[in-house]
Amino acid sequence: MSTPLVEMDGDEMTRILWRMIKDKLIIPYVDLKTEYYDLGLKKRDETDDQITIDSANATLKYGVAVKCATVTPNAQRVKEYGLKKMWKSPNGTIRAIMDGTVFREPILIKGIRPTVRTWKKPITVARHAYGDVYKDAEFRVTGAGKAEMFFTDSLGAETALPIHDFKGPGIVQCLYNLDSSIYSFANACFRFALSKKQDLWFSTKDTISKIYDHHFKDVFAELYETKYKDALHDAGIEYFYTLIDDAVARVMRSEGGFIWALKNYDGDVMSDMIATAFGSLAMMTSVLVSPNGQFEYEAAHGTVTRHFYQHLEGKETSTNPVATIFAWTGALRKRGELDGNNELCGFAEALEKATLQTIEGGLMTKDLALLYEGDAKALSSEKFLDAIAGNLKSAIASK
Ligand code: NAP
Ligand code: MG
Repeated sequence: MSTPLVEMDGDEMTRILWRMIKDKLIIPYVDLKTEYYDLGLKKRDETDDQITIDSANATLKYGVAVKCATVTPNAQRVKEYGLKKMWKSPNGTIRAIMDGTVFREPILIKGIRPTVRTWKKPITVARHAYGDVYKDAEFRVTGAGKAEMFFTDSLGAETALPIHDFKGPGIVQCLYNLDSSIYSFANACFRFALSKKQDLWFSTKDTISKIYDHHFKDVFAELYETKYKDALHDAGIEYFYTLIDDAVARVMRSEGGFIWALKNYDGDVMSDMIATAFGSLAMMTSVLVSPNGQFEYEAAHGTVTRHFYQHLEGKETSTNPVATIFAWTGALRKRGELDGNNELCGFAEALEKATLQTIEGGLMTKDLALLYEGDAKALSSEKFLDAIAGNLKSAIASK
């Protein structure tokens, strides 16, 4: 490796898996260079969360990061860890600094069939993670009255828009978004489609929301025409806009193998549906991509707290490490691509293959054994990682 990976360590059960993955699957084969940031809750508290900010800035500097799942503290965690403060979600902080878009992609396994029969390839959901209903203003109307929306520009000029003449009680909601954020989102989607060489779909409700949703559609169309058309054509892929209702129907009868970009709320809802229909949250990877093409890879699941408490009681757990392994392979492959290091890309490929081969050979963690069609043996995390290590070793030795 010539350039270091930004390594963001995390919490609880995934922190335990992190160590095992490095020791058993990576360090024996890769001359691993990382710039290490401990985003474990203890260190975040000690550094007043500066470590999270530093790790995000390092990602902007080097271009590729791999992140372990981390605890987002709530009141109970503040007590449990004796924290100075209820620190913000590290993912939120990193996303804000990188101005990034989150892409969630399922890992497909022979023997675990998606609920939707036609799906043969992964569907990646790209969710715009800023504004709309997540930053709305809401109002409970308790009786008759007039609701209006006002905008005062920087010179003091006011624009008023009637909303509704209420005859009785009801509710009002006001949403907003920013051009800068929508352009960042669209740029990240086009770049990601080019990097994956997969078609990009985008869908909103522009026929009903003729200004708001239509603006999203216009931004995508403008960037496509002015910036990405030729590159997409050269890569043999397409950009495709359709109304969200039509997109849902098409997704359900598709084969998969594309990126589906969605507004904030649509992406929140649809990504959970897609994840469940593909099998398991433990088989879902997540990549945060900045508009300038910096990448942060992680598993989509959390720190698996319930398993961690069992681990603390001295029990062996069968926690699935696959999404975390694929976060590492995603990051190593991207680092290899950026540095023209084919050997590193080859290693990432070999590790993914060895992981899938192990499961397809009937050895897996408990969560997968429950879904697997065929003879499945449920192993502890450690035994499962040893089985992968065995397959990886033979694959590399036979080359
Ligand atoms: P979670 O850690 O994803 O776990 C929820 C449940 O899903 C687990 O109890 C387990 O079910 C199953 N599961 C998830 N990942 C699994 C795996 N790799 N192998 C096997 N089973 C798996 O979500 P959570 O319990 O809601 O959150 C725990 C902590 O994670 C919270 O402190 C939260 O802040 C944090 N979190 C972090 C991130 C992130 O860093 N990106 C994302 C989400 C949550 P069973 O118990 O039935 O076995
Ligand atoms: Mg959701």
